[in-house]
Amino acid sequence: MIIVLKPGISKKQEAAVIKEIRSLGYRPHIMRGVARTVIGAIGDELTHQSLETLITAFPRIVECVMPVQRRYKLVSREAHPSNSTIRVREHVIGGKKIHLMAGPCSVESEKQLMKSAEAVKAAGATILRGGAFKPRTSPYEFQGLGEKGLKLLARARRETGLAVITELLSETHADLVAEYTDIIQIGARNSQNFQLLIAAAKTGKPILLKRGLSMKIEEWLLAGEYVLANENPNLLFCERGIRTFETYTRNTLDLSAIPVIKKESHCPIVIDPSQGAGRADLVEALCKGAVAMGADALLIEVHPNPAEAWSDGVQQVSLDLFTRLAQELRAFILAAGRE
Ligand code: PEP
Ligand code: MN
Repeated sequence: MIIVLKPGISKKQEAAVIKEIRSLGYRPHIMRGVARTVIGAIGDELTHQSLETLITAFPRIVECVMPVQRRYKLVSREAHPSNSTIRVREHVIGGKKIHLMAGPCSVESEKQLMKSAEAVKAAGATILRGGAFKPRTSPYEFQGLGEKGLKLLARARRETGLAVITELLSETHADLVAEYTDIIQIGARNSQNFQLLIAAAKTGKPILLKRGLSMKIEEWLLAGEYVLANENPNLLFCERGIRTFETYTRNTLDLSAIPVIKKESHCPIVIDPSQGAGRADLVEALCKGAVAMGADALLIEVHPNPAEAWSDGVQQVSLDLFTRLAQELRAFILAAGRE
């Protein structure tokens, strides 16, 4: 259920309603919008007392009590009609600005990461990506530098001022990864690893949740619900292509997920055209499409020498190509009414 408060309610009045929600057996989840506050009440309505009594108990504070029809509650637009914005250091994702998150698939060396970081920053990126713990299909392929990679990311952040996103693979590394990153990425192979999602949510860091390889949108939204239900409102959905019968591209990038997520959820949506296409030559066109369709950020793999990359070489764009791509995108971003 969601409880909509009247505009201009004081903190004290809000606290009184929250206390009552708790005493009725529900867990309150507070969402403060620009105009008014909405409280999601989590709990089993069959076993707990009705929340309808709040209207009569607090007639000057509570506007209405509404059921959320969807299976996903806190991520749904029903619960939170306006767009959520996620603060990452000095940046805001989900607002007017479309953010470029760019960098290598894997952190390989100081030189490779620093070269990438400086180039993507100069081209206008605000967030540096780079995998330190890598989910590889084969156990014989490069598994990432681990903590050493995290340290290199922290160094690149210090020297360039870029924010950092990196993947969390295991619950046991949640605190370690959170110590070094600004955004935690949950990869496609782990997007329904609910214990991992809970551990990631509990770090309090913004979470970028990739769509699983064969995940329906409803399942993806429900996976996102695990983050919000664990007291972390900072969730970004990321479409990175799904498995279809098509083999020309590595995956089929489902750009239609953008308006669907926008319709169903208030959380920002990020597009990863690199894993989506699996080939560098399609990245620019997919970025343009994503911008036109309302993406809030793009997650792009960039490498100083893609042919020599230790992972995902064929889909990474060179530093020069990224610089040109970022330049080319500008007109599309403005045409979409964004910055
Ligand atoms: C990646 O971003 O390098 C990655 C492994 O992504 P995904 O989980 O989407 O495959
Ligand atoms: Mn990759």
